[in-house]
Amino acid sequence: MPTSPHTSARIYRVALAVPIFSLFDYLAPDDAPVCLGVRVEVPFGKGSKIGVLVAVAESSTVAEAKLRPIVRRVDEQPVLVAADMALLQWVSRYYHYPLGMVISTALPAGLRQGKAAVLPRARYYALTEAGRGFDALLLKRAPQQKKLVEQLQGQGGVISEAELALGGGTWRAVVKGLQDKGLLALADAPEVAVRAFSQQPGLACNADQQAAITAVTESFGQFRVFLLDGVTGSGKTEVYMQLIAVALARGLQVLVLVPEITLTPQLEERFRRRFSVNIALSHSKLTDTQRQTAWLQMQQGECAILLGTRSALFTPFKKLGLIILDEEHDTSFKQQEGLRFSARDVAVVRGQRVGVPVVLGSATPALESLYNAEAGRYRHLRLPKRAGEAVQPGLQLLDIRNQRLQEGLSEPLLAAIRVTVAKGEQVMIFLNRRGFAPTLICHSCAWVARCRRCEANLVIHRHEQRLRCHHCGSEQALPQKCPACKTGVLTALGLGTERVEQLLGGLFADKVVVRLDRDTTQRKGTLEQFLAQINSGQADIILGTQMLAKGHHFANVTLVAVLDVDSGLFSIDFHAAEKLAQLLVQVSGRAGRADKPGKVVMQTRRPDHPLLLALLHSGYHRFAQTALAERQEALLPPFSYQALLRAQAADADAPLQFLVAVAGLLAEAASPEVLVLGPVAAPMAKRAGLFRYQLLLQSTDRRLLHQALGRLVPQMEVLKSKQKVRWSLDVDPVDLY
Ligand code: ADP
Ligand code: ZN
Ligand code: ZN
Repeated sequence: MPTSPHTSARIYRVALAVPIFSLFDYLAPDDAPVCLGVRVEVPFGKGSKIGVLVAVAESSTVAEAKLRPIVRRVDEQPVLVAADMALLQWVSRYYHYPLGMVISTALPAGLRQGKAAVLPRARYYALTEAGRGFDALLLKRAPQQKKLVEQLQGQGGVISEAELALGGGTWRAVVKGLQDKGLLALADAPEVAVRAFSQQPGLACNADQQAAITAVTESFGQFRVFLLDGVTGSGKTEVYMQLIAVALARGLQVLVLVPEITLTPQLEERFRRRFSVNIALSHSKLTDTQRQTAWLQMQQGECAILLGTRSALFTPFKKLGLIILDEEHDTSFKQQEGLRFSARDVAVVRGQRVGVPVVLGSATPALESLYNAEAGRYRHLRLPKRAGEAVQPGLQLLDIRNQRLQEGLSEPLLAAIRVTVAKGEQVMIFLNRRGFAPTLICHSCAWVARCRRCEANLVIHRHEQRLRCHHCGSEQALPQKCPACKTGVLTALGLGTERVEQLLGGLFADKVVVRLDRDTTQRKGTLEQFLAQINSGQADIILGTQMLAKGHHFANVTLVAVLDVDSGLFSIDFHAAEKLAQLLVQVSGRAGRADKPGKVVMQTRRPDHPLLLALLHSGYHRFAQTALAERQEALLPPFSYQALLRAQAADADAPLQFLVAVAGLLAEAASPEVLVLGPVAAPMAKRAGLFRYQLLLQSTDRRLLHQALGRLVPQMEVLKSKQKVRWSLDVDPVDLY
């Protein structure tokens, strides 16, 4: 591990996880030196805190007599080496977020709390001689044992307890069973993860895939961003895997980021089938210990591949060689609370600092990324055809004006569903709203069930007989009669997945309808069960929210229906059109294969809408060109840069007063090149009992915008009106809500 310069200066400058834009000075112990990047425990207020040593100094602005000595050093070796620290410092500057809080976001919980940064001594298992030659079919009555034997026979490797534990459940019993049969035994640790590398052969690539692989391979060892722009099923994942193979063969580690946890299992499985190296996972469903282990394993080079969601981006690597970000357009890469960073943008910065290629993959690249590719900043690699023989499904608009609708489904759509399921093929129905219906209204007095804490309606969850707010989580029992007039009949207005499920269950009583949304997949493992059920053909109609649009491919689905396209067409957020187009293309990419091409039906009352027509007749890229031209006209991102300042408080006036004062500061100091828009009430003006206002800053000059923010933030800290509000700054917001 590279060590930072030792020092014997007397003052330690420590980053602490407190919302203050400064470091904290402490007296160094006499037995210094210590390297930068180690954790120290320091007195803070009446207690103590764990922080990270970021600098040493000879003098402090705090009077010497007031300086307190540190309590103890936690580490001998730095948890963050200079390169890691430099990236976090960049993040702190760019997002105008205190360094101590950035570091705290980056560190796994255990390290944040001061736990020792040591890997638990890992135990490894490998097949015995007998196990290697064993016919796994003989284990068919112990399917988990069979699976493990097959996995290890396939990769010829060893497996650690940590990896076994990731499989969940009863792994100890499985191991014990195989040990008792003499098929498995404790083994030595593999030397270094990357060195134990071997792989199954990849597929023979088509010319487009090969060109992409060659281009990235030629850039190994230097920074370059590639936009791998390939339609769903065009073989992007195959390209990733062949690039990973190149990295591993050179002894380099690889960082792979996906937008959602639900996408990790399938990718993990494909990686494990291909590569016999240690793979670490990092996402929010893991325990703190598992995440800390993954962090240390990457830092110490024990694992070769890290697969994770946006927070995994900050994991330190011993020898990072390649960064891959799949579904780069997905807004889940932008953190929406705390440190509001874009994992995509920071991944590019990390690649630049480390000097490694960054591959951004998508079937529907973000407009910014297409713009960067057009401007020559990113190299544009296209995979325009589906790999193998599969063809793109055909898109079709279904005009539902004047059509009789049953729970949102038109007759022609129902007829198409009937035909499809009669052929034994699967139907996927997409509706981006969970629950039974979004509004409960009284038929006689027009009372509507509203959330008391938000400016929003309560959503009916009929199955559990509850009303729920999808914004603050508050809930109550479903009332049986109108609480206002006491006599009126309560009616459910609008559509949710539960309601459509009920209809389909009735109409297709002999078919299996599966509903996939946050409500049905909350329990761990249920999503995987559903996916397995669908893939094994034991589901005829699959109904779900945008969860369906992400990553999963269902080969036997030949009809995809989008029930309500229109709700996405009318939004005050300029990002909405882009998101809708991406969603429609992604949903449609989930279906069909060579012998059974898919069809996508989109119900709309606006069959003449230009966005829909552009998408339909000319595809996503033409749509993107049109949308980019509109943004250029309006000087919206990526032709300008934005930062959104949000403020909220229980007191209805406080946020507005605060933002008016902020706008005043900006009017005095900021360059006229920085537009200040607002303050205005947030689109959802009240949420979880707090009133919300916002102020938008925009400039065509990124440097000027950041200069203004850099000056503003410390001034805001001392505003009197700040006392009553909670504010947050969102640089490059993807959601103006
Ligand atoms: P994407 O990530 O772009 O959606 P995948 O890499 O998952 O695409 O590939 C889609 C399907 O096509 C997979 O079943 C994959 O095995 C197959 N495939 C990919 N590349 C090839 C190839 N060169 N020849 C044959 N099949 C391929
Ligand atoms: Zn009423
Ligand atoms: Zn609420």
